[in-house]
Amino acid sequence: MNTLIEKLCKEHNLSDNELAELIESDDAETAELLRQRADEVRQLHYGKKVFLRGLIEISSYCRNDCLYCGIRRSNKTAERYRLTREEILSCCENGYALGLRTFVMQGGEDAFFTDEFLCGVVSEIKEKYPDCAVTLSVGERSYESYKRLKEAGADRYLLRHEASDESLYSKLHPKELTIANRKRCLFDLKELGYQVGAGFMVGAPFQTTEHIIADLRFLQELQPQMIGIGPFVPHHMTPFADKKGGSLELTLRLLGILRLMFPKALLPATTALGTIAEDGREQGLRTGCNVVMPNLSPVMVRKKYDLYDNKLCSGKESTEYLDELEESINSAGYTVSRERGDAVGFSKI
Ligand code: SAM
Repeated sequence: MNTLIEKLCKEHNLSDNELAELIESDDAETAELLRQRADEVRQLHYGKKVFLRGLIEISSYCRNDCLYCGIRRSNKTAERYRLTREEILSCCENGYALGLRTFVMQGGEDAFFTDEFLCGVVSEIKEKYPDCAVTLSVGERSYESYKRLKEAGADRYLLRHEASDESLYSKLHPKELTIANRKRCLFDLKELGYQVGAGFMVGAPFQTTEHIIADLRFLQELQPQMIGIGPFVPHHMTPFADKKGGSLELTLRLLGILRLMFPKALLPATTALGTIAEDGREQGLRTGCNVVMPNLSPVMVRKKYDLYDNKLCSGKESTEYLDELEESINSAGYTVSRERGDAVGFSKI
């Protein structure tokens, strides 16, 4: 296995068979070597810096019915909320005072968020905080909509592709959603000059090693600046309530592999990783991750953005406890950067 890791380090690529071997390796020695190499590569490009993003969960309304997601439209018990323009701006004000220089607006696909509304909020944030980056994560939209949002000042867009394989995609999503449109969105966003984030859930129901390899191949084709992966965690009010969640070990293995395949990518240690293991996020940071996204949403709505069971939304996960988060980042051997934190080598078209 060592030779595979060294090859991946040098060539940033492996054959499908080799990738399968590494993905399925489950010995501690391989995990440790992968971790070490991933850490070396992240340090080569990003030093010990960890970038913080203030996550503002702007709406729990969603028109979609993704089978894994707690805020899917069929979940009649989900508590719905949406933030007003004033509430979003007040989150940014708090975050800016705390030293955050990226604001991520994420939400369900809520028809209330027209281009006009979002463009207004984005341009106001950019006017007030010109040294900050604005990231959007509000799902699938038209090319024209992405273009307007970009012109309003949005810098980045997160849209996990979820599953590159068509048949897996269709088992995780209702039939009106297609991987073809998801990919179209991602390529549109790239063309428009966004820093783009794609990614997938690890251990999603029905996911096999072959599916994961297809995801890695799609990421090679897309070459996103950010890659978000985290374990699938079941939600009790979804059709996948009884499915097994993704494991910490496989998630870490894939983070290590991603760091070696995409040396300059921004890789978040996700909330889902911190949810399945107490030190999951720190382990992620030690395995190539360089981004953490503490929750900046108003405290009153946090529990309502209920994507999966036991989702963390307080303590180190939230901006009220940034000192503790910083302490845990320091104790993992890294330092919080106060920069905007763009991807190394990213140049605007
Ligand atoms: N609507 C936007 C979109 O589709 O990109 C953003 C919101 S969506 C809820 C954000 C991400 O949450 C999804 O990309 C999905 O991967 C993740 N997610 C949803 N349900 C999850 C679950 N049960 N376990 C882990 N991650 C989940």
